[in-house]
Amino acid sequence: MKINHNIQLKPFNTFGLDAQAACMIDIENWDDLQALADATNDFPKPYFCIGQGSNLLFSRDFEGTLIRMVNKGWEVIEEYQDYVLIRAGAGCDWDEFVEQTLGKGYFGLENLSFIPGTVGSSPVQNIGAYGVEASQFIERVHCFDWESGLFATIEKEYCEFGYRKSVFKQHPSWVVMWVEYALSKIPQTQTYYKALEDYLVKNELDSENPMIIRNAVVDIRNSKLPDHKKIGNAGSFFKNPVVDAGLFESIRARHPEMPFYMESETNFKIPAAWLIEQCGWKGFQLNGAGVHEKQPLILVNLGSATGKDVLELAGRIVESIKNDFGIELHPEVIVL
Ligand SMILES: Cc1cc2nc3c(=O)[nH]c(=O)nc-3n(C[C@H](O)[C@H](O)[C@H](O)COP(=O)(O)OP(=O)(O)OC[C@H]3O[C@@H](n4cnc5c(N)ncnc54)[C@H](O)[C@@H]3O)c2cc1C
Repeated sequence: MKINHNIQLKPFNTFGLDAQAACMIDIENWDDLQALADATNDFPKPYFCIGQGSNLLFSRDFEGTLIRMVNKGWEVIEEYQDYVLIRAGAGCDWDEFVEQTLGKGYFGLENLSFIPGTVGSSPVQNIGAYGVEASQFIERVHCFDWESGLFATIEKEYCEFGYRKSVFKQHPSWVVMWVEYALSKIPQTQTYYKALEDYLVKNELDSENPMIIRNAVVDIRNSKLPDHKKIGNAGSFFKNPVVDAGLFESIRARHPEMPFYMESETNFKIPAAWLIEQCGWKGFQLNGAGVHEKQPLILVNLGSATGKDVLELAGRIVESIKNDFGIELHPEVIVL
């Protein structure tokens, strides 16, 4: 395993924030994991697993050890008439994995194209976009627990997948090593998500061709989201809040135009972006941090922000939405 001390984290987080980690360990294979298992007390604590840092906010220097899986590559481990079972290394770049599997004729992940990050974090976050979530295709996840020193395979029914959550989020000492994906050999596209459907209709595209869906998703994302290589960000900063019927009706009486999704008979999900825009935050800047001018759910580093600046901006937004709507926003981004 590769051990580095006093690492500058700017290249390791998509917010592009300056911070330092006391130690970072790159894990490439079984031997590295065994070595880590034998030496878990030798490195500064706490430990935290990191992928490409595309959902993280370093609010200050990290005093512990960052563990980074760098095992790349994937292979078909079982093949059936209609689908294949693929084992992918946690260190694979997510979008390269999506592009490569589609290129081989293994379908399903097309709607999840162009999401930054690694394969290893895909079950942790249960990444989702355009009406599809990674959990729909995950069969099992192979992990190592640095607290117990044990290796374990978690079958999908024990992964406790939900909206951007999983059992792995509750156990930060579990390092995901490999993820097994079941992908179809027969195209079965899912295009009911409105923005995607509208794009396909407008451009008269074949909605049954997964590669066309991938290209459409990439195009839509490019037109809506800031490129984190040019302007630092970590995607949606807040989760969309879910409110009960009483609060929902009282807000709707004041704002009949409010968009919403029904979660259940009594619970309603309200787009956090709409709430943030209503409170006048779109395009707002504070020190080097800002609210993206097109997509208010995304907080950006305009170049000189510190993690504290971003946190302060986020805190002000949370407070104003609480005051105006009685809704508490919670970050999707993990604050370290
Ligand atoms: C521009 C932009 C757009 C985005 N769009 C979307 C979107 O459409 N949908 C969506 O779901 N997300 C989106 N995101 C968020 C982000 O891409 C995902 O959360 C992604 O899965 C994070 O991957 P990462 O490898 O960078 O993980 P990190 O940000 O490094 O870590 C995220 C979490 O995963 C854990 N983790 C990472 N690797 C491992 C591992 N091997 N074992 C155990 N735990 C691990 C970390 O401990 C942490 O809890 C977007 C981000 C950006 C910057």
